[in-house]
Amino acid sequence: MQGLRALPSVDQVLNGPAGRAMIAAHGRTATTAAVRAELDAARAAIRAGGRADDVATGAAARLDAAAQTTLRPMLNLTGTVLHTNLGRAILAEPAIRAAVTAMANPLALEFDLETGGRGKRDDHLRGLIVELTGAEDATVVNNNAAAVLIALNTLAQGRDAIVSRGELIEIGGAFRMPDIMARAGCRLVEVGTTNRTHPRDYQAALGPDTGLILKVHTSNYRIEGFTAEVPAPELAAIARAAGVPLLNDLGSGSLVDLSHYGMRREPTVAEAVAEGADLVTFSGDKLLGGPQAGFIAGRRDLIAAIDKNPLKRAVRLDKIRIAALEATLRLYRDPDRLVQTLPTLAVLARPAADIAAQAARLAPRIDAILAPHGFAAAPCTCASQIGSGALPVDTIPSAGLRLTGAGGDAPDRLAAHLRALPTPIIGHIRDGALILDLRCLPDDDALTGALAAL
Ligand SMILES: *Cc1c(COP(=O)(O)O)cnc(C)c1O
Repeated sequence: MQGLRALPSVDQVLNGPAGRAMIAAHGRTATTAAVRAELDAARAAIRAGGRADDVATGAAARLDAAAQTTLRPMLNLTGTVLHTNLGRAILAEPAIRAAVTAMANPLALEFDLETGGRGKRDDHLRGLIVELTGAEDATVVNNNAAAVLIALNTLAQGRDAIVSRGELIEIGGAFRMPDIMARAGCRLVEVGTTNRTHPRDYQAALGPDTGLILKVHTSNYRIEGFTAEVPAPELAAIARAAGVPLLNDLGSGSLVDLSHYGMRREPTVAEAVAEGADLVTFSGDKLLGGPQAGFIAGRRDLIAAIDKNPLKRAVRLDKIRIAALEATLRLYRDPDRLVQTLPTLAVLARPAADIAAQAARLAPRIDAILAPHGFAAAPCTCASQIGSGALPVDTIPSAGLRLTGAGGDAPDRLAAHLRALPTPIIGHIRDGALILDLRCLPDDDALTGALAAL
């Protein structure tokens, strides 16, 4: 058995050549802690009758592991373009530059350069949102969940919020409409049934305690078969007749008609405004293609009330995202070039034939890289999804690589290897293979380069 006495002291390790190199790279505090931790592990191993690894080598491995960011860039080859777990939209170049400038410099965030007096941070965005949506006024908050929360709280605290049973959504576990309503201080009044809600259902629920009617886009499911919902214009008329506001939570909320780019039509934000909603809410980092944010667009008096709500300060945006949003929204002023300038749209509109050609080109190269590890690659067709609650049951034809290997656990094993790469690669498992959907692959070398580290 290896003796405890054979182990070096902390100082011996720190003063050796390996120790000095670790201190130069990681600093004395972190290096000392890593050496101590490694020595503890070595003593425990020896007491358990095993062998201890070289202390300096083990400490260096600990330091290298701790120095690696868990937020390193990766390749999203899942086929879901706006993947919430992978950070949703990739920003456009002008938005990235604007964010970097905002990070590094003082700017007139709440400062009127003409008068030298106080300005408003939302004013940098207000005009653009109004221009692009046709709404009277607009405000921005941390995300769409916050937009819904503050709108409900402002319009219906202590009062009834009427919503169809078919629209009581849950998004990703934490965001459930009934819970948000409760936190906003509203009484949830459910009307209709899961599959059918009629105008008379809303009308019967209206009363002196009604704060608002809420319409929610069913972002991640679709009710099919024997169904009925009250269309937004009709619901707007019911709300108007009763003198209560209609809030339409669009979720993803596109500013452009997706059917121009080969996807199914979804109502745009401008259409939702035109349909008579008093307020519409939507996300910044879904189809819009910007940073995380929540937009509220609609009636000027209601926006003013929201801006006065003390919650607004708690959910306001920082300068970095305001700068990135402004640059993103500006791109929409030139819709003809949006498919080139906005990465989200570029990726969604990418023709399947282009992706198939890339798959055919890459398959032999990837196969050659994987073969020594016992895996094979072949081109395949697959189906991408927009993700983040846009067109939830629609898919977009795509192409990719089908990776296979021996044994039933081959796809899982390969997926684990690809996740562990310095640039992790994430695909999805289907029919006994790991599928890499190439829709979001920026260029061929990004994949071969990442796989070279296997
Ligand atoms: C995504 C979504 C939300 C939440 O938006 P975040 O920007 O993720 O906070 C709320 N409502 C609907 C209908 C959604 O699709």
